[in-house]
Amino acid sequence: MAIIGIDLGTTNSLACVYRSGRAERIPNELGEYKTSSAVSVLEDGTVLVGAAAKERLVTHPEATAASFKIWMGTEKTLTLAERKFKPEELSALVLRQLLEDAKRYLGEPVEEAVISVPAYFNDDQRCATKLAAQLAGLNVKRLINEPSAAALYHRYSAQTGDCQMMIVDFGGGTLDVSIVECFENIIEITAIAGDNRLGGDDIDRAIAAHFCQENGLTEEHLAPALRASLYRQAETAKIALSSAPAASISLQQGEKRYGLVLTNELLRQLCGPVFQKVRGVITRAMKDRSRGGRLNDVILVGGSAQLMVFVDFLEELFGRRPHVAVSPDEIVALGVGLCAGIKERAEDLQDLVMTDVCPFSLGVSTYSRRDDRTPHMAVLIPRSSMLPASHQEQFYTLNDNQTGLRFEIYQGEGYFASENLKLGEVEVQVPPGPAGEQSALVTFTYDIDGILHVSAQSSGGDFRERMILNPNLHLTEEGKAQAMERIRQIQLAAQGDQRDQLLLERALRIYTQTIGQRREMAAGLIGYWKNLMDCGDRIQRRRDYDRIKERLDMLEAAVEEDPLESGIWFGEPEEEEFGQEFEEDSEE
Ligand code: ADP
Ligand code: MG
Repeated sequence: MAIIGIDLGTTNSLACVYRSGRAERIPNELGEYKTSSAVSVLEDGTVLVGAAAKERLVTHPEATAASFKIWMGTEKTLTLAERKFKPEELSALVLRQLLEDAKRYLGEPVEEAVISVPAYFNDDQRCATKLAAQLAGLNVKRLINEPSAAALYHRYSAQTGDCQMMIVDFGGGTLDVSIVECFENIIEITAIAGDNRLGGDDIDRAIAAHFCQENGLTEEHLAPALRASLYRQAETAKIALSSAPAASISLQQGEKRYGLVLTNELLRQLCGPVFQKVRGVITRAMKDRSRGGRLNDVILVGGSAQLMVFVDFLEELFGRRPHVAVSPDEIVALGVGLCAGIKERAEDLQDLVMTDVCPFSLGVSTYSRRDDRTPHMAVLIPRSSMLPASHQEQFYTLNDNQTGLRFEIYQGEGYFASENLKLGEVEVQVPPGPAGEQSALVTFTYDIDGILHVSAQSSGGDFRERMILNPNLHLTEEGKAQAMERIRQIQLAAQGDQRDQLLLERALRIYTQTIGQRREMAAGLIGYWKNLMDCGDRIQRRRDYDRIKERLDMLEAAVEEDPLESGIWFGEPEEEEFGQEFEEDSEE
């Protein structure tokens, strides 16, 4: 019985196994290591997975799906040849194919797998991934963040010294940026930031849109097959540009022929908006890290890291050319393969320790005053906390003779509880007494396997515990109708309060963009200002406006202060060594 490691990618998937001291890639039936994460339903109802299915994106777009990973954890259904599939079902089909290939290659049954997910995946998306594995008949105990896997492999294969590095994983549909510290046998992820709707696909889309614009075509009016062909050509041209000065795209529609010549200069221009977003994510990772110090290295992984204009862009950003990993689109899978080895307790891997951080803030809803009608989130485990993490906080009753304390459990970065994802709730009884006398101690523990344990202990001795494994809180039809009704009932903001309202909205935005002390400051300002808004105290607002605004300006300046400009990127001493570890990395 073997354990395999799987990189279940948006675009491509790949499985590895740990054998004779190294992570080994498992080839598919075609003898290739990468399997396209594409699924197509054939006329007889059977299902194709991989490169063949990808071909059918052009020929049978109505029976084929790709890039469905971006819908994981949502209620979206995709229709293939008139059959409906949930995203996790399509992922399960990809996993089944990888499993079949692994069984054939290894000559033994595969019982367990470690699967990687983007670091930025929330709980719903992680649960959907585990569900996909279950549907494929795989036992999955552990999910690992993709950049953690890449860091693990890099550290293991390149034998780098103690260092702090940034890993930028730019794939087909996701961007993950993580900062990793390596010290002796410890690999520690100190910050992660990401965007799970940003990748090479967006570049293909920008190229296709430009093609249509230049040729006076409306993309939405193109026949599905023609449109699919355009996207395919856009991708091919993009890839070709890394080794050729120009590439062309052409479409034939009836008698008419449309064309475009793509150069690196034009590509760079079209990538502008995508790269701006990349810059934002990189900046956030730099700000979120729990420790300061300089970066020794920037490692690029993922298929899109091979894009020359992308490396050029990062070179300008960092003032130095970052490394493209040796096999950028396989390094995650190789790392997951090592991880599978760790699970099997392979001797030579035993002393490798890996830590991770929590990709989102976790907390409970709480009220600041008796008449407070919009609960905000009291964060118990802030984003980027090192895992496992455990925090406690005491909450007090707000009413006399209150009989219990109920806490809704949320994840997310919004100030108000309702802006975040609700994971569950926990309630404890308290003995009667004056307001503020009775309390409950809430404890959050988030373990390395991504399971959140929540407990509440009341002053009266009542104790409740929740383990959040599979929050399933998607709206039912009835729930949707209720939500719509709720929206309909909301009234527009009062006239004359716009300026004050704006100040509040701005504070709320700044809250989501900060962590630590700055976040606390923002929360304090929000609590204070919101109270003045709620009780309609215009005079006090007039008095305080400038003072609050000044503080927000200060916080804002801190948010905007760009660590990219402040010269903290690279340590000087390693200047000479930059790049060498890869030249020596001849693993594959
Ligand atoms: P994912 O992890 O999202 O499944 P990959 O890391 O395999 O994806 O990256 C897939 C993306 O990489 C696609 O958008 C593809 O167009 C792009 N890509 C693959 N090879 C190259 C290349 N040589 N140059 C530029 N982009 C590439
Ligand atoms: Mg990937």
